[in-house]
Amino acid sequence: MLKENLQKVEEKIAASCACSGRRREDVTLIAVSKTKPVETLKEAYDLGVRVFGENKVQELADKYEALPKDIHWHMIGHLQRNKVKYIIDKVDLIHSVDSVRLAETIDKEAKKHNLTANILIEVNVAKEDTKFGVLPEELDGLIDEISHFSNIRVLGLMTIAPFVENAEENRVIFERLRKLSVDIASKNIDNVNVSLLSMGMTNDYGVAIEEGATMIRVGTGIFGERDYSHVET
Ligand SMILES: *Cc1c(COP(=O)(O)O)cnc(C)c1O
Repeated sequence: MLKENLQKVEEKIAASCACSGRRREDVTLIAVSKTKPVETLKEAYDLGVRVFGENKVQELADKYEALPKDIHWHMIGHLQRNKVKYIIDKVDLIHSVDSVRLAETIDKEAKKHNLTANILIEVNVAKEDTKFGVLPEELDGLIDEISHFSNIRVLGLMTIAPFVENAEENRVIFERLRKLSVDIASKNIDNVNVSLLSMGMTNDYGVAIEEGATMIRVGTGIFGERDYSHVET
């Protein structure tokens, strides 16, 4: 099933790239493996998947230990400051930075490991009050402050679009995130490069690619429905 699902996702990515004049290699597929057992990730690994996304620190750290070291791990979920230390040296990219205080902790932990942490700023484009992320009007100020941290590299923006029946409804959200990144790029802030756009999930990644996504986060479309009944929260 995994193999067929991956094939279907690849076909849809190819179609969305083709219809928007984009290249397949400019879109990174992140396989969102949260709640799935290590054996399932291993199966995906054996099919060639090397980029996995997780949203819980403990789960990411456990899977990191259990799986081959050439995997690229992405932290896509809300991150608590006291847990940054458990993943700072394990992840390629943190997608969910939305406050100066969190950035400050990431900077401090990165220094301890003598590394520079790659991050995206999570923007609550849809202004849903259930969501994390900085509001669009606060984005400039936040990026300006974060740009002063020596062990952080801002690489782009991320958003979680609302759940909608028709993916087309989220087109404006993706378009807005891309425009925000163009605005920031035009300011040429030192230490800040906003070329990455992490947007689009199983229900709407086709539209997100058409609107410029460089990273799509696909869980259900690859691994099937998630079962939360036995997962500790
Ligand atoms: C779970 C999750 C996804 C994947 O969602 P699907 O609808 O299963 O593709 C993407 N991004 C984030 C931040 C998530 O938490």
